[in-house]
Amino acid sequence: MLRMLRTISLASLCLVIFLPMAANAGDIQGLLKQAEAARSADPKAFAAALAQIEEQHASATKEQQWQFRLLKAYQLIMKGRYDLAVQQAIEVRNDASDVAIRFRANLLIANTTAITRDFSLGLRSLETALQLSDRVQDSELRQTGLGVAAVLYNQHGQYALGQNYAEQLLAQDPAPRNRCLARQVRFEALYGLGSELSESEINEAIADCEKQKEPIPSNSLRGYLARRWAAKGQVAQAAELLEAHLPAVEATGYPRLIGEIHGLIAEYRLTMGNLSEAEKHAQAALAGSVNGGYSLPQVTAHKVLYEVALRRNDLKAALSHYRQYAEADKARLDEVKAREFAFQLSRNELQQKNQSIELLQRQNEVLRLQQEISKKSAINNRLFVAMLLMVLGVGAYWAYKVKRVQVMFRRQAQVDSLTGVSNRRHFREQAEAQLARCETANREAALVLLDLDNFKRINDRYGHATGDWVLKQVAAACQVSCREGDLFGRLGGEEFAILTCGGDLHAAERIAQECRRQLAAIDTSQFDDEVPVITASYGCATTKLCGHDFENLFMHADRAMYRAKAEGRDRVCSHEERPVLVRTQQVTA
Ligand code: GH3
Ligand code: MG
Ligand code: MG
Repeated sequence: MLRMLRTISLASLCLVIFLPMAANAGDIQGLLKQAEAARSADPKAFAAALAQIEEQHASATKEQQWQFRLLKAYQLIMKGRYDLAVQQAIEVRNDASDVAIRFRANLLIANTTAITRDFSLGLRSLETALQLSDRVQDSELRQTGLGVAAVLYNQHGQYALGQNYAEQLLAQDPAPRNRCLARQVRFEALYGLGSELSESEINEAIADCEKQKEPIPSNSLRGYLARRWAAKGQVAQAAELLEAHLPAVEATGYPRLIGEIHGLIAEYRLTMGNLSEAEKHAQAALAGSVNGGYSLPQVTAHKVLYEVALRRNDLKAALSHYRQYAEADKARLDEVKAREFAFQLSRNELQQKNQSIELLQRQNEVLRLQQEISKKSAINNRLFVAMLLMVLGVGAYWAYKVKRVQVMFRRQAQVDSLTGVSNRRHFREQAEAQLARCETANREAALVLLDLDNFKRINDRYGHATGDWVLKQVAAACQVSCREGDLFGRLGGEEFAILTCGGDLHAAERIAQECRRQLAAIDTSQFDDEVPVITASYGCATTKLCGHDFENLFMHADRAMYRAKAEGRDRVCSHEERPVLVRTQQVTA
């Protein structure tokens, strides 16, 4: 039996054969190529190449060391040291980073564990290899993987998977030898699935395998043709077909095939009532098996022998064969169950692994999305801040512009456009506020009014523009004469006013006199000789006499100013009489 199992797996290993590569001995790479080429064809050359590599082992690269260790595992298989080979291949698989090496190591484990009957490890390794296959560059190596998958899944009774991988391999236009093997494995799967087999397709596959000089698959295919005929009732034709090729089958030396074909002939001969032929072939089917048989041909052979003995009325022999048949059948069923269990186990493991990988991928995806969201929200925040700043900036700019316009309008409303000093309205507002403060603080304040003398004449004689120039000069001269904190404004035309806070009448008179001096100092040399000295008439009034009411103060200063005009101009007059309050005046009037 063990021999049979070994042979089954060696048939699988047939798929793990690489095309011979150009050997370039001398360097390690060349020796590795040589070893790969000789691996299945020339065991001696294979061993010699490995020995040479071993000598140079120290100078080998990591990749070369992995390949060498893998080849050593193949050598261990050849020596029948399967457990060691598996161990070695597991180490290579775990160490190597090269995908092709890991792929090959997994296939080797899958194949070898079919012999050591570690089905779970075998299926796990096969599935690992299949998962790696997309990343394997070498198409022939990938095809090998598909072939091994088809063979092993069939062995585990997973015929749908077997068919699938065989058809995947065929779809990849494999090398002729692999094509023949794939076709045979495909029919094995289809038969296992109970599908109706197409005779023309089987014949086509047989012709293909004959062309490749592959007697094992071609005769195995004949077995399926015979089964098809037998199912149709053409039992004799089926037996004759198999008997005709029996010498070729025997010549393969492959016990499983020999047992299978003999088993089928025995079955058909029994159906035909040819007991001695049936017995002969049943015995032949059993001859190849070691330590009894677990496989279907052996079970069939025991059953045939039992039936033959029964029909011959040899009850003792019948009982003995029946017992063997029952034992073999039970053992076979146990084996089928063990393989089925191993398959389910590995499927569950694979499913769990895939689920945890999927979970991990989902978690990664969630993490990635979270990062993206936080990145986007950071960008959004930045955009928001930028927009806010922009809005604030625009707002501030507009506020600034509006303020500037407001300031400009306010200034335009307060300032006399010709001289740049306060206009009448503004002067009055400021003066009223100032007077109120002085009143509160119980401080004296004085008002000086001045009116240019005979200004009309300057206008008339030198023109309005010159008059404007004079007005500007006068405004500047008066400002120079003011003390710090004094209010100054143009009341209109050629009239100006100064309000001084904290000063008495004399202080106002001093300011007026200073104005007189400044006006007299205005340089009019740009005009004709006849240009007169610029003079003005001044009227002063103080709150001490008139109170802090602006109107009243103004009225008395104005009167004083008119008195100065009347007294001959270019002089300062002050209101010195008893104050007459406007209100009192109004009441008196
Ligand atoms: P008096 O000594 O009596 O005050 O005589 P006056 O000529 O100064 O006074 P009057 O009231 O007769 O004339 C004032 C003149 O001031 C009349 C007007 O044309 C002139 N005037 C008023 N405002 C302006 C101005 O903004 N620019 C110019 N160039 N002249 C102005
Ligand atoms: Mg005037
Ligand atoms: Mg005047």
